[in-house]
Amino acid sequence: MSDDPETARQIEELAADDRPLLVLDVDDVILEFIRPFPRYLLSRGFGLTLASFRLTGNIAETASGRLIEQAEVSALLGDFFDAQADWQGVIDGAAEALATLGQHAEIVLLTAMPHKHRAVRRAHLDALGLTYPLLTTEMAKGPAIAKLRGANGRPVAFVDDQPANLLSARSSVADAHLFHLMADNALRAFLPPTPDDIIAVDNWREAAPKIASALEL
Ligand SMILES: [Mg+2]
Repeated sequence: MSDDPETARQIEELAADDRPLLVLDVDDVILEFIRPFPRYLLSRGFGLTLASFRLTGNIAETASGRLIEQAEVSALLGDFFDAQADWQGVIDGAAEALATLGQHAEIVLLTAMPHKHRAVRRAHLDALGLTYPLLTTEMAKGPAIAKLRGANGRPVAFVDDQPANLLSARSSVADAHLFHLMADNALRAFLPPTPDDIIAVDNWREAAPKIASALEL
């Protein structure tokens, strides 16, 4: 079971598919986030200066210099996701990679965002030609991936830019093939070294053949 009942409900709606499973994060894996979000913040009178791999604590009100609190960050993120069609383009190489991988694998997008933004993201992805199923979760991703896999033990690969999500996947699906892909590889400087069982990839051109090999497509 996914721990998030709404995510579990969304999974139940998917058609049964026993092909190898490829689960993908959206922000900074499929859609640009860390490049457009600072531009959005500037348009709202805030500035992001990354001094660590997190948003809260790194966003200041431009006029006052005041660092904003978690609740304000969440509100700005929500506004950004509502306006995402104006800001979030496709990550370089993602559409081509998914078109190829999707010929022999089931592709499911799993985005960690409030469920209320699902319809906006769905419409934006559709407009971009990325019609793969989209799930939202407000809880850890690992249990959702385990439920998506189903009971037949099919191969699973999961791609995310957030190490915590990859670790969640590992704890729920011990044999998942895990890939750490970041839209901006400069951010790796803020992260601890990638664990040995997680494959770091610099871009989709590098990721696609490694995923195909892992899933034996
Ligand atoms: Mg992400």
